[in-house]
Amino acid sequence: MGHTYSGFTVKNRARFMDTVETARKAVALAWADIQDVRRRKRPSRLYARWFGKYSNERVKKVFDVINAINYAIGGGSITFERAQGSTDYAAAYRPPGGWGQQSVKQLIDSGRYKIEVGDPLANVSTNFFVKLHNRSQAGKHGDVQTFIHEMSHLFGGTDDVEFAGMPLYGWMPSNMLARLNPDNAVKHADCYGFYCAYQLDR
Ligand SMILES: [Zn+2]
Repeated sequence: MGHTYSGFTVKNRARFMDTVETARKAVALAWADIQDVRRRKRPSRLYARWFGKYSNERVKKVFDVINAINYAIGGGSITFERAQGSTDYAAAYRPPGGWGQQSVKQLIDSGRYKIEVGDPLANVSTNFFVKLHNRSQAGKHGDVQTFIHEMSHLFGGTDDVEFAGMPLYGWMPSNMLARLNPDNAVKHADCYGFYCAYQLDR
């Protein structure tokens, strides 16, 4: 088992593998955290910050998303292929008919799952992320946050929740969403990215 990396330059490959490995740790910690929340029926500090008020239904949703990502990047073998010149962060071949017919587990277990990694993610570094959001917002795990954001779309079917036609990207909007609209926070890819990345500094 283990992931395969193809088409990367030596430097990009090392950097991207490092991002995947750190993300794997972050998601494993998030998985343990959400299990605790479920058992104790009250939010952890990080759960409350990124998903807001506790409800059984919302915790179940967060668990399902984290569980799928954890399965895919923790135990699976994915081929990450660099898509040079792509301006997207990541693209994946979805199963014909969608995730409903072929589960994440089945697909990952087939060992033939491929994710195309676009240049923004292949080249991602904290510096890159800092251009988008300032350092205090991004924290030092901006690359991991971005990676998990994308994986939550692919494996958890999350959205980029919008307000007034603008996606709520970043630390502050995601945090506001958790406080004001927890039903939407649990659908929001960025909230998953932050929830997992912040586990690394717990
Ligand atoms: Zn997104």
